[in-house]
Amino acid sequence: MTATLPTLPADVPNVTPQDREYHRLRSTYTASHTPGAILLPRSDSEVAQALRYAAGTAAPVSVRSGGHGLSGRSSNDDGTVIDLSRLSGVEILDPETGLVRVGAGARWAQVAAALSRHDLAISSGDHGGVGVGGLATAGGVGWLVREYGLTIDHVRAATVVLADGSIVRADGRSSPDLLWAVRGAGSYVGVVTDLDIDSMPLSGVAVTQLAIEVDPDGAVLERWAEFMAGAPRALTMSGALVMSDDRPVLVLTAVVASDDPRVAEKALRPLEKLGRVHRGRVSSARYADLVPLEHLHPNLGQQPSTTTNALLRRITADSARALVDVVSHRARPLVQLRALGGAVDDVDPAATAYAHREAHALVTATTFPPYSGPDLDEAVVPLLPYSIGAYRNFETRPDDEAFTRAFPGATGERVKALAGRYDPDGVLSRVDRL
Ligand SMILES: Cc1cc2nc3c(=O)[nH]c(=O)nc-3n(C[C@H](O)[C@H](O)[C@H](O)COP(=O)(O)OP(=O)(O)OC[C@H]3O[C@@H](n4cnc5c(N)ncnc54)[C@H](O)[C@@H]3O)c2cc1C
Repeated sequence: MTATLPTLPADVPNVTPQDREYHRLRSTYTASHTPGAILLPRSDSEVAQALRYAAGTAAPVSVRSGGHGLSGRSSNDDGTVIDLSRLSGVEILDPETGLVRVGAGARWAQVAAALSRHDLAISSGDHGGVGVGGLATAGGVGWLVREYGLTIDHVRAATVVLADGSIVRADGRSSPDLLWAVRGAGSYVGVVTDLDIDSMPLSGVAVTQLAIEVDPDGAVLERWAEFMAGAPRALTMSGALVMSDDRPVLVLTAVVASDDPRVAEKALRPLEKLGRVHRGRVSSARYADLVPLEHLHPNLGQQPSTTTNALLRRITADSARALVDVVSHRARPLVQLRALGGAVDDVDPAATAYAHREAHALVTATTFPPYSGPDLDEAVVPLLPYSIGAYRNFETRPDDEAFTRAFPGATGERVKALAGRYDPDGVLSRVDRL
């Protein structure tokens, strides 16, 4: 006897393999997939219907906001995708405080463009194509991270559809536990449909590019990290350690959260003392120029890759040397470096599901085909002794080990307990395992 499959909810728009749009909607940025059905809800109640349907199948359930998740698990093979792209509103709730409601399916380019008209900004990530739902439920290390903190640090409330289809408003008063989980581990507790986030007033930023020649021991990397530790919060820097003619070079973008060029010049001048530094001209920009609408593109599985990351308390002489070893590995991983600290440190490690407040550097390493996971694992070995944990959103393989690195100790226990409370049957972890 064959089990009867639930029928697709009649009110919720859907796309199945027979439909013309299927090709455009089936995959994510990093992975090609063939789901059985893609549901495109337009309201919280349609999300609830979609989730009830998906729960009733025994098949995988994926939740997709922007489709930029590195694990590629916002789609699947043969299961259901709940695609939130039609929930993409950006509404200023309070012009005085800058409180903004953003739909989970909006992309950060759209959020930045909408807020820019009001001289407001939310620091998100470095790419405008990334979705609100995946980033603002896990962290958010953006171009203004040292001034603003993580995106989750400013999430005040959220609407969450739980696995049983109930719609809950998560805020600090009525459901502090649920809000705590949304701020760092949201995917384990429900489908977030919108978030209320405090934006910051910002009329413009100053931006420049620089390249720092790195010695074989990486000593200049330690000096760069020391410089960042003492730099004003207005300055955020991130970039990549690359090999150029077999010599490592640190290529950075510096963003200063001010439209006063004197503030930028003062913040950047000491960099010249670090070593052989080549700095471009400082130019003025809108925050929205950093995550522009031009970043938006369909996700067709065009970027297969494997990524892992390490959070470092700080970059020491030893970990700097390890970074040079990683980038010199035969798989030539892309090694990205982000300075943290500043406002990230202001938040109590127990206040959100992102516990690693003491980490002042985030290192990501990515390999591209023909290299894969085992090559990446081999490449990052030199860095492991210095890692104090990981940022969930820069992991391609969300296995138990990655979970423990992202959610250590009491944080991980609380995430698991809340996942058990809000999704007792594990509907949402059919693809994103705890
Ligand atoms: C090019 C690129 C640049 C990036 N740059 C940065 C950066 O600078 N800073 C940074 O912090 N991160 C960055 N990231 C990582 C990014 O934060 C994650 O990949 C994030 O998950 C993408 O969000 P999304 O909505 O596009 O993802 P999706 O692929 O749609 O979703 C990824 C996962 O998030 C969960 N999820 C998605 N939506 C919801 C929801 N509404 N409710 C509950 N769970 C949900 C699901 O588990 C899903 O599998 C970058 C990624 C890429 C590909």
